[in-house]
Amino acid sequence: MDQLEMLWEYQKEDIAVDKLKNDIKRSPTRQKLVKYREALLEQKETSEQITNEISAMTDRLDALSDAIKMIDEQAAALKNKADAENTVSEDVSRLISEAKRLQNNLSGYEQEAKHIRKDAADRDRMQRDIKVRFAKYKAEYEKLKSIYDVEFKESNEKLETLKNKAAEKAKGISPELMDKYRNIKLHSVPPLARLVGNQCGGCNMSLPSAVSRSIKAGQLIECETCGRLILPPLESSAL
Ligand SMILES: [Zn+2]
Repeated sequence: MDQLEMLWEYQKEDIAVDKLKNDIKRSPTRQKLVKYREALLEQKETSEQITNEISAMTDRLDALSDAIKMIDEQAAALKNKADAENTVSEDVSRLISEAKRLQNNLSGYEQEAKHIRKDAADRDRMQRDIKVRFAKYKAEYEKLKSIYDVEFKESNEKLETLKNKAAEKAKGISPELMDKYRNIKLHSVPPLARLVGNQCGGCNMSLPSAVSRSIKAGQLIECETCGRLILPPLESSAL
């Protein structure tokens, strides 16, 4: 068998290897598994984000609680001043307006603390929901994973067999020709085509009859349109 025909036989096995690799990658079990993994990751990230938010809220609540305590102390001090016997009336009105200002600050802080506590409670609820969802996804994921592990092992064994077959067929093909095949494969799959009439069997482009003749004579000719290496038609080759 000549080199080109050996390469043709190799291509058959090479295509089978690629097809199985593709099937493995596109296995529905694997795709579902990837989706579950993404969903798990998403839940985890959301949960971490909420944890951070709750922690910031707790910090803010602490700060508000400190501010409220300070206002209480200031209000008590004001009251003491107002109660003092030597307080003159203009001082009293100043003290009253100061007390009003403190009261305003206080209710602002208390409002904010109330909102934060409500938001924090909402987030706690979200965290609980996420936990439930996470556990559900995780169980599904584990179930699929054990199915996929079996599937993957079987496919890999098949793939090994096919690869060995391809390696067998590659034996005896010159390294230069194999390089050419691999280079063409980078842009055209499959890299080899047959001459069909006067056309490239890969892209159906018509070839000048001189080119067809050269192909039939066994020259290495690549299609000018698709770049494939064109082999003579079956009936005229291997004779
Ligand atoms: Zn072509």
